[in-house]
Amino acid sequence: MNLAEWLVRTARRQPDTPALLSGENLVATYAEFALHAAQIGALLRKRHQVQPGDRVAIFMKNSPAYLELLYGIWFCGAVAVPINAKLHVREAAYIIEDSQSRAVFVSGAGELPGLLPSDCALHDLETEPAFEPGDEALSEPVGRHADDLAWLFYTSGTTGKPKGVMLTNANLHAMTYAYFVDVDDVLPEDAAVYAAPLSHGAGLYNFMHVLRGSRHVIPASGGFDAGELCALAPRLGNVTMFAAPTMISRLLGAARQSGYAGEGLRTIVYGGGPMYLADIEAATAQFGARFVQIYGQGECPMTLTALPRGDIMGRQHPRWRERLASVGTAQSCVRIRIVAPDGKDQPTGEIGEIIASGSPVMKGYWNNPDATAQSIRDGWLWTGDMGSLDEDGYLTLRDRSKDVIISGGTNIYPREVEEALLTHPAVAEVSVIGRPSAEWGEEVVAVVVPAGPEAPAASGLDAHCRTQIASFKRPKAYIFQTELPKNNYGKVLKTELRIRFQTSDSSDT
Ligand code: AMP
Repeated sequence: MNLAEWLVRTARRQPDTPALLSGENLVATYAEFALHAAQIGALLRKRHQVQPGDRVAIFMKNSPAYLELLYGIWFCGAVAVPINAKLHVREAAYIIEDSQSRAVFVSGAGELPGLLPSDCALHDLETEPAFEPGDEALSEPVGRHADDLAWLFYTSGTTGKPKGVMLTNANLHAMTYAYFVDVDDVLPEDAAVYAAPLSHGAGLYNFMHVLRGSRHVIPASGGFDAGELCALAPRLGNVTMFAAPTMISRLLGAARQSGYAGEGLRTIVYGGGPMYLADIEAATAQFGARFVQIYGQGECPMTLTALPRGDIMGRQHPRWRERLASVGTAQSCVRIRIVAPDGKDQPTGEIGEIIASGSPVMKGYWNNPDATAQSIRDGWLWTGDMGSLDEDGYLTLRDRSKDVIISGGTNIYPREVEEALLTHPAVAEVSVIGRPSAEWGEEVVAVVVPAGPEAPAASGLDAHCRTQIASFKRPKAYIFQTELPKNNYGKVLKTELRIRFQTSDSSDT
């Protein structure tokens, strides 16, 4: 079934309900949202000769128009290729070419025209709107099958070129239903606030709000501004949003200054990167029972595990802290196993690679059968993440398999060392990596962003680690930096840190 059907049905049921808002300002009701999508569908079909199954890219910052474009693309049966607006124009051009997109929507073309393949039409919303009153509209969404592609999701590429993850209608249906079962209720009076890029997890999370007919809000800043959000949430009420862990830390910083305690915020779903125990405890102390965690990846969108509100707040449970440090249990639409490199199941509690199967798992990588065969084996998606399952089915995530440090023949999981260091008050951010060592194979190095103007003494950090983790896991060196290199989604680029700090130099102690 075409995803645009959901929008059409909601628009029939409640045409006058506010659908799209910019900050507090109404931009479109559901009837208008659906009409605009149908008009964009007609534009793509008639002007750009887009056929069902063709790809259409969007390279734009978050805006209400973004959602109309997505649904317009689906309306005419095409496949959306959302591109992170923070990417360099050359990176965007690579994705447009790789996906063989027939058209790309931008808001301000910049240098893109010179880089586009000749058969890709450029539609710049700054010079021409995507629809005007009275424009022709498609009468109904083009029929699509469950197995047809709907979204080509380009991986964030912390290493190498991004790959196009093929997500089908069925994958996105499964993700949407699982949200209601495993993550949170969605209420008609909710306001889904898109502070994270719509090209990624936040955008994937639009469907449940279309189904329920709730409000979709793009902050006036077009992105994440902690102060703006603290002011906007009480005015909107019932705010629900997806946030990366770094956004929650920034929100917390702003809230502590202004005394904001979460008024108007109903749910923050966090995921996409490690949430450290110290940080989620601080966040719940400030905001209360407003958090749900999910663990997913483009290849199994938003749907590997969930740690619901009750678990996050369930202090009375004897294993509450372990659960809080975990990513929760498998979502209802997937099976999860922990396996050794030969594919054999690991015993409960042992660490291995996380593999998953189920209806949200991608169809494969676009035009890349080798990468697909490496990732999906016998129907199981090899996630590249390491973790362990406890006897209750809670998954604790360790690290990407390539980030594990092997020192003296023993595996050391950077996250555990990072968790320990983050409980030190002088540490604002930390990333732990392995560095080649003649003696140990690899040795543990901590790259630390100090909380204050002065770097803390390495000896003090070392003493702190001794109270938290096994002695052999302690960093052999500390390197102090003013910031950590991150990709456009805020994920720390460990590969870059490894290259930068390959050899010991004067900056470490
Ligand atoms: P992406 O495909 O760009 O969304 O990145 C997915 C990767 O982000 C996963 O494979 C994990 O390594 C990481 N990730 C996602 N959710 C979480 C989470 N809740 N905790 C820690 N890491 C996460």
